[in-house]
Amino acid sequence: MIIFVFILGLFIGSFLNVCIYRIPVGKSVVFPPSSCASCGHQLNYIDMIPFIGYFIFRGRCRYCKASYSIQYPLIELLNGLLYALLFYKYGLSLYMLLYGIITSLLIVISIIDLKTQTIPDGLNLFGVIIIVFLGIYLFRDNYLTHLFGFLFGFVLFLLIAMITNAMGGGDIKLMGVLGLLFGLTGIIFVTMMSFIYGAIISIILIATKKATRKDYIPFGPFIAIAALTYIFYGNELLSIYFNIFL
Ligand SMILES: [Zn+2]
Repeated sequence: MIIFVFILGLFIGSFLNVCIYRIPVGKSVVFPPSSCASCGHQLNYIDMIPFIGYFIFRGRCRYCKASYSIQYPLIELLNGLLYALLFYKYGLSLYMLLYGIITSLLIVISIIDLKTQTIPDGLNLFGVIIIVFLGIYLFRDNYLTHLFGFLFGFVLFLLIAMITNAMGGGDIKLMGVLGLLFGLTGIIFVTMMSFIYGAIISIILIATKKATRKDYIPFGPFIAIAALTYIFYGNELLSIYFNIFL
């Protein structure tokens, strides 16, 4: 079963690559079918076998031999592994479905933010629709915390954006989306973790001279990693925290 989930994750990962490539340029993610960016030859099913196809054809187009970025198989592999981990943690459940969709969405958001310094509104909107659709049932005992979570994430990052000018509109909306998903405690956790990740990685980038103090470092990926931390270890880390401090 877990192998099936992993393979499903690879195939969805393959679709995520299409999203990452097409959404920023405003192309449809369903039509036309994938084609080689170099020669335009339409890819058939054997070319699109995720991950493994990359190694069979040694990262090259079968038709024109143009090489593909290693980014494609890596994203497929990442999505497959995260799906397998989600299945391991949540079993076959609506939470696995919800977190699976959100995990894939966070991958797409992170890569697009890294490449274009923006998070497309459509992606945040997609997140809201999925969360509301499944949340009406899943969060039925506790709507209020999810509402407060949305307000906390959105308003806090709006204030940070107004004060520091370092946050984009996409980050503010993404924090609203995740607040709606995780509720108040969860979004406070995500806020703190995202700043910790942001600080650590910025210090590393500046220390290794990969970035300077003046460079703009997209914040979306830090929010995404913090959200994944919450999905996988949130309860464990929070209970450690409460045991130590309360
Ligand atoms: Zn080609």
